[in-house]
Amino acid sequence: MIKTSVYAATDAASPLAPFTVERREPGAHDVLIDILYCGVCHSDIHQARNEWGGSIYPMVPGHEIIGVVAQIGSEVGRWQVGDTVGVGCFVDSCRQCEACEAGEEQYCHAGASFTYNSREQDRITPTYGGYSTRITVDESYVLKIPDGIPLERAAPLLCAGITTYSPLRHFGVQRNDRIAIVGLGGLGHMAVKLGKALGAHVTMLSHSPGKREDAFRLGADNFIVLRDAEAFAQNAGRFSFILDTVSAQHDYNAYLSLLRRDGTMVLIGLPEPTPLAAGPLVMGRRRLAGSLIGGIRETQEMLDFCAEHGVAADVEVIPIQNINEAYERTLKSDVRYRFVIDMASLQ
Ligand code: NAP
Ligand code: ZN
Repeated sequence: MIKTSVYAATDAASPLAPFTVERREPGAHDVLIDILYCGVCHSDIHQARNEWGGSIYPMVPGHEIIGVVAQIGSEVGRWQVGDTVGVGCFVDSCRQCEACEAGEEQYCHAGASFTYNSREQDRITPTYGGYSTRITVDESYVLKIPDGIPLERAAPLLCAGITTYSPLRHFGVQRNDRIAIVGLGGLGHMAVKLGKALGAHVTMLSHSPGKREDAFRLGADNFIVLRDAEAFAQNAGRFSFILDTVSAQHDYNAYLSLLRRDGTMVLIGLPEPTPLAAGPLVMGRRRLAGSLIGGIRETQEMLDFCAEHGVAADVEVIPIQNINEAYERTLKSDVRYRFVIDMASLQ
């Protein structure tokens, strides 16, 4: 076993603190990765604080991992020592079900092994994420980071990037489509950039008036603060597609009214359960859907798309000692637009 320095939550109420876990020695198909950067996703906070229930402690969050291959197993064909690689939200899956065969491993029927707060495919060994100096991962669940993207700005692509890219592509967003992104945080700022790169006309819907200038700088064509019924009424029926990234409870029904007939709203934010009314869906034959990250093949496609289109995250790099403060600032929507941990601070 490989003793590894990490930051961990030991229960739902305590701040994250230094801790040690054991990683497996690389097996025949594994790579051992020295972690350089790890992004801070709002899902890390939800799970560290057990907001979704069933959290496994000690928990080492982090699923936006960038690193360098330090060691490879005897059968590894895809990677060499020294390669710059990424690890996203899952590290294994059954590889046999219909979802895995379709390259949508995140929807594995048997249950994917998520990068942390989850179990390996033996259903026993806990997984530990990227707030860590290194990680051992099966070679098939590792991504290639294309040249040209600064590495700290590439880290958030592994979750925020793919989580927004996948529904934009799956639901067929086209050039000149009028789309809206709800919530200008880690996911939202990637959605604006990717929506623009796909040629859509992008409106940012925010509850933070102070983000107006940033929204335009990130590429948005329009910025609307939605805080009262009047603002919703003024924008009714405007958009063909809405991507909702909001992490806190809010009224989905009000946002659905912003869709035009046959429009689609996709939820990617994961707040506490929220009531849904039939009316706004029925009245405009509107659709409400959800989407979970993206598979390995699509994640690689997204990384290559970002390299080609000059898309990367806007980040604030922090030492790991500031992680608890970063969580508090994220909860106040005070992040521009992703915290990324420089793992050199944990050596
Ligand atoms: P984040 O950086 O904290 O951004 C969330 C944004 O939501 C905030 O910046 C804010 O934008 C808006 N918001 C926050 N509180 C609000 C409120 N009370 N009312 C209205 N808007 C509010 O979080 P993130 O990392 O982007 O993650 C967003 C959500 O997606 C989380 O729930 C996370 O767990 C989930 N997630 C899902 C997937 C998936 O696969 N589906 C993957 C990753 C994350 P404004 O200030 O502009 O209003
Ligand atoms: Zn995430």
